[in-house]
Amino acid sequence: MDVKTLKTRVCQAVEEHKEEIMALGDSIFQEPELGYKEYKTAAKVKQFIEEKIGMPYEDGIALTGIIGKMSGRDHKANLAIMGELDAVVCPEHPYADPDTGAAHSCGHFAQVAATFGAALALKASGVMEELDGDIEFWGVPAEECVEIEWRNELRSKGTISFLGGKQEMIKLGYLDNVDLSLMIHSQPGSTCKTTGTSVGFVSKFVKYTGKEAHAGGAPHNGINALNAAQIGLMAIHANRETFRDEDTIRVHPIITKGGDLVNIVPADVRIEAYVRGKTMASVLDASKKVNRSFEAGAMAVGAEVEIVEIPGYMPRINNKAMNELFAANCAELIGAENCTYTEHSTGSSDYGDVEHLIPGIHPYVGGATGVEHGSSYAIQDREMLYLVAAKAMAMTAIDLLANGAEKALEIKQNFTPVYANKEEYLAAWEELMK
Ligand SMILES: [Zn+2]
Repeated sequence: MDVKTLKTRVCQAVEEHKEEIMALGDSIFQEPELGYKEYKTAAKVKQFIEEKIGMPYEDGIALTGIIGKMSGRDHKANLAIMGELDAVVCPEHPYADPDTGAAHSCGHFAQVAATFGAALALKASGVMEELDGDIEFWGVPAEECVEIEWRNELRSKGTISFLGGKQEMIKLGYLDNVDLSLMIHSQPGSTCKTTGTSVGFVSKFVKYTGKEAHAGGAPHNGINALNAAQIGLMAIHANRETFRDEDTIRVHPIITKGGDLVNIVPADVRIEAYVRGKTMASVLDASKKVNRSFEAGAMAVGAEVEIVEIPGYMPRINNKAMNELFAANCAELIGAENCTYTEHSTGSSDYGDVEHLIPGIHPYVGGATGVEHGSSYAIQDREMLYLVAAKAMAMTAIDLLANGAEKALEIKQNFTPVYANKEEYLAAWEELMK
């Protein structure tokens, strides 16, 4: 059977099952959960797999992750299609969880519906039996980098090692046998967008410790931690001219605690900071300058400074050949005039870590409206949000795995990973966090 026929069949199957797919997405939208706590969301996916798809799965991965697997007629390549389970914090959102403030204003609910909708269509249409590779469908926890303190507690207890769910699943070995991967991210508007690269980051908790004294009566007996912090921030600014344009470095610190009482010399001042850049080498370079700056502030006034490094995410390096396949499929579905391309963006996702190991893409599909991460984020076009996304991913999977999985193997052959394996990847993070 030719690729065109397989695609027609899978798209028909998406249409035949559209009510179930849209119901899954809507239900997740209305019951948002934060990362590593997506128990209800994972249960919905599990129920969908059991009742609608019927495929072997494993759940409880990295606390809430779930992976379903389907085999082709041959096993020349293994593709992972991923959807993120978690929400962001946006208490003003109409569907925000009243207790946690969680809301789906990043559109991850639609990724999950599209991912498992694609699985349903590939199975129900019989297309899976015509492919020469296998597909895993991942429901991944914790993409949003929120509740850092709580996640750090989990890290110190050894429950998790990374803030990001994909990183954690890589560490647990789930990516070891995956050859290439694919996911979509929802976006407001009515277009599809493929992208080239993005930035990675590390984050820091900084604590300045000074010495308390009466601010009016005896400031000479104190050590002013707020002054130390301010000099540290100024020293960062003094380094900005050394950041190269092509590295798109972003350093954005905030003071989270500036002192205890206005008539006491501040002795406990805290800062949180992100350092972002286009490559991990450039992030590391900027990160060293930022640390040096924070230390300079402490040195100037004789305070102590403690810098806690928190692993962030690696930059995305989307695969060109896979982007082209995806864009061609989107063009077929919604017209080439509605498909765009952006070379570089300055947002971050833990999908970048996946792309440091295997070829992958992270394109955007419209159908939402409002501001991303804002209270106005809403569903506008369910057909696009869920069904176009499911079809485009299933069609791309067909491109990759039909005809002896020729395309997948060719892409794999032409791909040079930044890290040859999981061990190198983990060692790199260890080095970065020294
Ligand atoms: Zn997102």
